[in-house]
Amino acid sequence: MLQLVFTLDYEIHGNGDGCPLELMVEPTDRMLDLFDCYGAKLTIMAEVAEILRFREHAVTTGRDQFGYEAIVGQLRRAVASAHDVQLHLHPSYCRAVYRDGRWQQDYASYDLARLGHDRLVKLIGVGKAYLEDTLRGARSHYTCSVFRAGHWSMHPSRDVVEALATDGIRIDTSVFKWGRRDSLVKFDYGAAWHRFVPWPIDVADVCKPDPMGSVFEVPICAEHRPWWAFVTLYRLHRMLQSRVHRLGVGYSGNKTNSISSITRAAGSAFKRHAWKLDFNQCTGRQLVRALRRAERENRGAPCALPIVLIGHSNFFTRANVRNLRLVLEYVARRQNRFAFARFDEVDFDAIRRGFHGARSTDNA
Ligand SMILES: [Zn+2]
Repeated sequence: MLQLVFTLDYEIHGNGDGCPLELMVEPTDRMLDLFDCYGAKLTIMAEVAEILRFREHAVTTGRDQFGYEAIVGQLRRAVASAHDVQLHLHPSYCRAVYRDGRWQQDYASYDLARLGHDRLVKLIGVGKAYLEDTLRGARSHYTCSVFRAGHWSMHPSRDVVEALATDGIRIDTSVFKWGRRDSLVKFDYGAAWHRFVPWPIDVADVCKPDPMGSVFEVPICAEHRPWWAFVTLYRLHRMLQSRVHRLGVGYSGNKTNSISSITRAAGSAFKRHAWKLDFNQCTGRQLVRALRRAERENRGAPCALPIVLIGHSNFFTRANVRNLRLVLEYVARRQNRFAFARFDEVDFDAIRRGFHGARSTDNA
């Protein structure tokens, strides 16, 4: 049995562009309606740093320009029903200022894993407390226990993993096997223990298991695929959007020249890359085939295992609805093989007992 956990990073564009009502509330409403049709469950990964800026702006100006009340209402309705809300953080919003029609980022604070232990404990603690204070009125036992780092930044690991444990966060869901970045953030998840099976984290390296680890990694499910698997209209749309709302304007670190970019792109055409189960960018058929492959790989596992899929509210188009509908229909008709789940429905005790026996894809 595979438990499908659909996660949605709930945020405006990464460079601070865009209207929260259009990029967060409206697309998420469409998703929640769609999920309710199939009894599916959505886990909204709420980017709390920007939501707190929207609240502050409303309080100081007396004008709810960024739809703060609509955001809170939506998150409360989600946890009052079958869905969930958990913590996502882009620390560059903590000191962001609204100027020239956009939230100007503090790029010195962009790379979450490099903020240092004390700042991370405070940042994650504030985010968790905010969600629990805001949402316990809607679900009395609501707990914030799951985290996703902004731009998936979990390397180096020790400070951030220790901060998660200190703040009572039990699950991280930032890692995707084979993922690499070397720009605004720097990580290499090539050695991640598995492409979808969770593991208790070794604080020294989020990619490695430690049977005694108190925080679990539940990776975003990924495959290692050649470039042609990435050719979809949805991915093209996402790339164009990313160019329009380009990240890092005003950032002076680590610039690469165009020749080295071209050389790197030419070289990478012959390599395989991390292909996430991303419902903004993959077609419905691609996702269904990926679920079948995970099911085959999971055959014989001693307990149900989660499969984490990812999407972003700011890139959620009407075409994505058609694709998601196909996936939800497929899953809803095969309830003996697949289930819709939230993280709190995953049996981590059973996984901890059995994870030694699960097959690592390190050498795949
Ligand atoms: Zn994000």
